[in-house]
Amino acid sequence: MFPCFYILPEYPHSMIPMVDLKTQYAQLKDEIDAGLQEALSQCAFVMGPNVQAFEKEAAEYLAVKHAIGVANGTEALHLALLAAGIGEGDEVITPAFTFIATAEAIRYVGAKPVFVDIDAKTFNVTPETITRAITDQTRAVMPVHLFGQPCNMAGIQAVCDLHGLKLIEDCAQSFGASINGKQTGSLGLAAGFSFFPSKNLGAYGDGGLVTTNSDEIAQQVRMLRNHGSEVRYYHDIIGYNSRLDELQAVILRVKLKRIEQFNQARRHAAHHYCELMADLPLETPYEDGIGVHVYHQYTLLTDQRDAIMAALQKAHIGCAIYYPVPLHQQKVFADYCAGLSLPVTESVASRCLSLPIFPELNEEQIRKIVSVIRQAIHA
Ligand SMILES: *Cc1c(COP(=O)(O)O)cnc(C)c1O
Repeated sequence: MFPCFYILPEYPHSMIPMVDLKTQYAQLKDEIDAGLQEALSQCAFVMGPNVQAFEKEAAEYLAVKHAIGVANGTEALHLALLAAGIGEGDEVITPAFTFIATAEAIRYVGAKPVFVDIDAKTFNVTPETITRAITDQTRAVMPVHLFGQPCNMAGIQAVCDLHGLKLIEDCAQSFGASINGKQTGSLGLAAGFSFFPSKNLGAYGDGGLVTTNSDEIAQQVRMLRNHGSEVRYYHDIIGYNSRLDELQAVILRVKLKRIEQFNQARRHAAHHYCELMADLPLETPYEDGIGVHVYHQYTLLTDQRDAIMAALQKAHIGCAIYYPVPLHQQKVFADYCAGLSLPVTESVASRCLSLPIFPELNEEQIRKIVSVIRQAIHA
């Protein structure tokens, strides 16, 4: 069930994984190892100098006033919602076509995730699908920049302004994606990023980040992540132990310097895939031209998914379905979603297939993957 990047098994040389963390580590090894060695000798393991430096560097890169390291992406969303004052009885509008963590964070604060449909081409929620779900209880919207493509944030912000809703971005898949030169994570009241190893900016374990331009939200998140405390042993609120690890910050600093280059390589690989598959009877990913897509995933739509997957697996090529069961059809939300129909979400979930994509994916590998798909389709 788990994709191979969790355990990094020895895979045959010919195999192409979904994400190749080994090749990237080999390239960065000297710098990462030296950084880790230095941090180990300093022994400042919790909220040490690398966490502080990473927060500063990430805030600069994302052009936000505050960037606050937390334990993981789920916690980033949870603490951002708490700090924004979302709680019991509130409704938060969000997609059903996303990872469960988006909705979990909403539930953690006692609010209700209200699932809305997506655009068939971008796979993102739209101002229209959001507007249709607004009720008297709606307090916030949490769009997800799915697979690395920014949502229509101008349109979504306008809806939020009109109805007095808070806008909190799920940027777990969009580190480095931008709209008109503005980074995702700087476009709403607050945002949450994930540094899970397979994400565009990935640590070597768990990590996350809250970004905001609001001093109040930032102050709240800083307290919430550290036992409700600003001054050591003085506790103003009930908080959490949800800090970014110092050793992960070392790795993130090394990779942040190269994030533009990494995302550029992902875009290049994606465009190459699209060119090579242009004549095939399947839908390659669509770029809306408004934002810069950073291809956390390269996701096709196809009616021949089973045949393509079987052929790729046989050729030792990774592939994955993100996401096979949309959240409104998950058992955990059956109590209030049982009758809900989200036709575009359901259609996309039944036809989507993600192919290997990572910055080091090379020309030869892309050609190989496409030739296997081509044969599977014409078989
Ligand atoms: C990865 C992910 C998260 C959660 O991040 P973790 O760091 O794994 O907790 C949240 N939302 C989306 C859309 C994600 O892809």
